[in-house]
Amino acid sequence: MTEFNGRILVADDDQRAAASVEALITLQGYEVSVVNNGEDAVAELKRRRYDVLLLDLMMPRMTGIEVMDFIQQSELDVTVIVMSGDTSIENVIHSLRHGAYDYLRKPYAPEVLTLTVENAIRKCHLIQENQRIQGKLAHSERLYRYMVNSSPDIIYMLDSKGRFTFINTRIASLLGYEPKELIGQHFSTLVYPEDLDKATHIFNERRTGERATRNVELRLRCKDSSASPRIFDNNTLPIELSSMGMYVVEDPQGSRRYMGTYGVARDITERKRAEEVIRYQAFHDLLTGLPNRALFKDRLHLSISQARRSKHGLAVMFIDLDRFKLVNDTLGHVRGDELLQMVATRLRGSMREGDTIARVGGDEFIILIPQINSHDDAAHAAQKIIEELSQPFMLENHEVFVSTSIGIAAFPEHGADMDTLIKNADIAMYHIKENGRDGYEFFDDEMKARVSHLLSLESGLRKAVENDQLELLYQPQFDIRNNRIVGVEALVRWNHPEQGLMSPVDFVPHAEECGLIMAVGDWVLRQALSDMRAWREQGLPEFTLCVNLSAMQLAHEQVDRFVSMLDEFQIPGSALELEITENVIMRDLDSVANKLNLLSRHGVKIAIDDFGTGYSSMGYLQKLPINTIKIDRSFVWDIRPETNGASIVNAIVAMAKGLGLNIIAEGVETQAQMNHLAALECNVVQGFLLSKPLTADALVKLLKAAEGEDIQSAG
Ligand code: C2E
Ligand code: MG
Ligand code: MG
Repeated sequence: MTEFNGRILVADDDQRAAASVEALITLQGYEVSVVNNGEDAVAELKRRRYDVLLLDLMMPRMTGIEVMDFIQQSELDVTVIVMSGDTSIENVIHSLRHGAYDYLRKPYAPEVLTLTVENAIRKCHLIQENQRIQGKLAHSERLYRYMVNSSPDIIYMLDSKGRFTFINTRIASLLGYEPKELIGQHFSTLVYPEDLDKATHIFNERRTGERATRNVELRLRCKDSSASPRIFDNNTLPIELSSMGMYVVEDPQGSRRYMGTYGVARDITERKRAEEVIRYQAFHDLLTGLPNRALFKDRLHLSISQARRSKHGLAVMFIDLDRFKLVNDTLGHVRGDELLQMVATRLRGSMREGDTIARVGGDEFIILIPQINSHDDAAHAAQKIIEELSQPFMLENHEVFVSTSIGIAAFPEHGADMDTLIKNADIAMYHIKENGRDGYEFFDDEMKARVSHLLSLESGLRKAVENDQLELLYQPQFDIRNNRIVGVEALVRWNHPEQGLMSPVDFVPHAEECGLIMAVGDWVLRQALSDMRAWREQGLPEFTLCVNLSAMQLAHEQVDRFVSMLDEFQIPGSALELEITENVIMRDLDSVANKLNLLSRHGVKIAIDDFGTGYSSMGYLQKLPINTIKIDRSFVWDIRPETNGASIVNAIVAMAKGLGLNIIAEGVETQAQMNHLAALECNVVQGFLLSKPLTADALVKLLKAAEGEDIQSAG
């Protein structure tokens, strides 16, 4: 049995001969058909495919040669074995020329026939196999080419001299070159000049495997800057390159010859951009676009070493906007943010090129002036900033004024290193703010003690609220016509573990500054209402409870909270009077008016404390639901026959009466003051003359005694 299968056509007009051939080769396992003339042979070949044609040359109607012509013309893939009794050499040559594969002379031995057929069939199969492999190769080559060319990366090969032998088409879309332009060119044509040293190292990579170069960053040049859509840092393309050596094995011992380098270059533009953005965010304040503390420190560090070398000075300025919190509280965060952006713009505008302006906190900025000749230079810059920021800002049709406190620390006098300079500038800023002025100040050593005192004050006060170190005293207000207590003012004290009883003058302003006033104020209101409730339960005669409210409390606290506290302690609104200062009102008239109107709808009364010391615009008195004004004690103290202080008190009293307001005179210490007030019919007074602030217990005693007197005098 043969190992090949095949289909064979026998064309012979000698029917007997044809039949014996058929029998023989059918035995070999082939599929055989027989025709007896040339025309039938052609018809059969047209009908179906044959591997081998056993062809008699001498046939009627169409000769074997003519059949072969047909085969050639129709490019049929069939192997022809010519059989003929005609032995002339011309015929043999002729038929071989016409594409015959072999020639059999009649009569032939059966073994010769079978062998010849088998050979032909084997040849057919070899050709077919070869074609199949060729096809596969072509396909896989197409596949690889496709893969290489559609790779997102540049893939290339260099010869041992560094010239391109292959480069995929990705180069066209990334750098604008056609691959064929680059074949034979040296790699340096592509490399950004500054990166050439590094590139030479990588492109000449001879190592393979793990030790080969991986992920090295380089910049490549685009062919035409304007045509390139991927412009990055002018017309370069950042890439990440991995390359390795290529070798051929020369002999069975395995010795290798270096052929060149194979590499992959990945476009990392996007990643670079992302890195850039991240780096920017890490070093900048996103709201204003200014450098942040980290970048500032970096620059300061650098400037200090430069200043050391060249022996010049530098200055660090700490800037705080004095009224920023108020804008935030009253106009909202969006406007607050806007204000900060405007401030940043003005700061940028008023500083010089090499100066660094950073935003380091809510409303805090630091400036580095890297080179100064004297303190005057820094003072001059600070003055400029103050002037620049003193111009009003327009926010949503509001003219907003901020004032600025600037602390300055100069190198090397006020600090030899970065942290000390920043800290000392901060201390100087704190100092000037404490003194309530806007302006600038240079650091000096005395400030340190003061600031550290303030810092410990802050942490101490935080604990005080939690640990019950606060206390309330109550100062009675008397109606001098009948000597009755008509109100009491709650005044907070801090029972400091080391410093003893502290006056609010020493900690309230600071609590306002650092925000702790909210907690303190809350405590005060609760304690006062709770005491008030106890007094009312004891059936003592009724009087008004007066509580001081700070600006921040009024800005932040919702009216609902006051009301719900009144409910909680079951105190009617009309028994409470909140004392606010004029400054609070002037800060944001609209919002304050809203809140005060709501409060007065709940019966709560409003008093203007320290009247006459704040803004002198009296317009608000008619617009707001004010019940009482408290004449500041400085005016009361000026009631002396020889001064005209009395005339201020006279004017205030007259005005209040005109507006139908209640009046309380504060800080009455002498009988003369009292007489003067009585003569003006300013009937309610508060002051040491009648009573100092008392503890709750002492107040109850006083109230009970007064009640007793009343009963006595009535009886
Ligand atoms: P204020 O509201 O004007 O309170 C009156 C201050 O004058 C009190 O000082 C009181 O002791 C003092 N005083 C009363 N009569 C006389 C007098 O005849 N002569 C003199 N020399 N002084 C007199 P105090 O208790 O030290 O409070 C000072 C300020 O602290 C208060 O001024 C008020 O503005 C603030 N304060 C007190 N308690 C609170 C509070 O609970 N919350 C808030 N936000 N501020 C408070
Ligand atoms: Mg008061
Ligand atoms: Mg007062």
